[in-house]
Amino acid sequence: MMKEVVITKPYEYEIREVPIPELEDDYQVLIKMKAAGVCGSDYHIYHGANPNSTYPRIPGHENAGVVVKVGSKVTRVKEGDRVVVDLIITCGQCYQCKIGRENICENVKVRGSGVDGGFREYFTAPEDDVYVIPNSIDFKDAALIEPFAIGAHCTNRGKVVPGDIVFILGTGTIGSIILQTCKNKGCTVICCDIDDETLERAKAYGADYIINSRKENVVERVQEITNRKGVTIAFDSACFQGSLTSLFEPGLVRNAGRVVNLGFTTAPESISQAMLAQRELDLISSRMSCYQFEPVIEKFANNEFNLDGLVTTPIKFDEIDKVFHYMDNPDPKVKKMVILFD
Ligand SMILES: [Zn+2]
Ligand SMILES: [Zn+2]
Repeated sequence: MMKEVVITKPYEYEIREVPIPELEDDYQVLIKMKAAGVCGSDYHIYHGANPNSTYPRIPGHENAGVVVKVGSKVTRVKEGDRVVVDLIITCGQCYQCKIGRENICENVKVRGSGVDGGFREYFTAPEDDVYVIPNSIDFKDAALIEPFAIGAHCTNRGKVVPGDIVFILGTGTIGSIILQTCKNKGCTVICCDIDDETLERAKAYGADYIINSRKENVVERVQEITNRKGVTIAFDSACFQGSLTSLFEPGLVRNAGRVVNLGFTTAPESISQAMLAQRELDLISSRMSCYQFEPVIEKFANNEFNLDGLVTTPIKFDEIDKVFHYMDNPDPKVKKMVILFD
């Protein structure tokens, strides 16, 4: 038997005792969970605010574990392999799948929101959805591979190149990851937030400039830093209503610049046609990731990122109630929880 955590409906969850799942076909593997990251979208699922989720649902899409059983036709992985699990399940047949945009497959299912995820001791997945990680990456950090895949994907979507001057709104987990990804690509990065503590953390992660928008005029500072030109690309990793609109303020992004959106806020923004056309800006959206797990694992293995302090709050699976407690009672010190299974 094993334990699983089920969100039965918004604001309600149960811990259930169920049999360990059997392999459903010859191409599946059984994974014993070791670490599961808790993401903003899990908060939204629990609070009924994730438009992509259905109930009842086992959340968890930042999953790392060990393969403990393999189907008879499995060739890519073996028992004992340490793995992370991709969150997207795709059809392989639609237009999007055929042009290499599987993350937005028209039949996409997402582990942890559209189908059950990793807040459970064991689950099965097709071998093609798992990626082996080396022993040098510990499981707590392995739970960050999925969010780093998001960083890799959104910077690819934004066509970030060395020499870009990047503005990042929000220095939470994803903002910090986009920052490190842009630094890894050779950019100058300006980070903006209202929280001095995460802005200081951003400096440790390589931010060239930090702006506290509560204390400073953002556009004036950006103008000063960029010799009155503006940045070449801006990312919205703050994702509140109005955050995207704020990136279109004159003086922030220069002509021919790009703005990348990651949020899922359903309230409308106030972006006029002129705000886009006057500077011929590209507005680029980015959702989850596509083909980024393997390159990110390689960068983790090469120690190319600073993971110190990204996981603020490790929580034992036995104490899962704490995860929901912090979702209901946000604590500014709890920025990123990771559930550890042993
Ligand atoms: Zn996530
Ligand atoms: Zn498809």
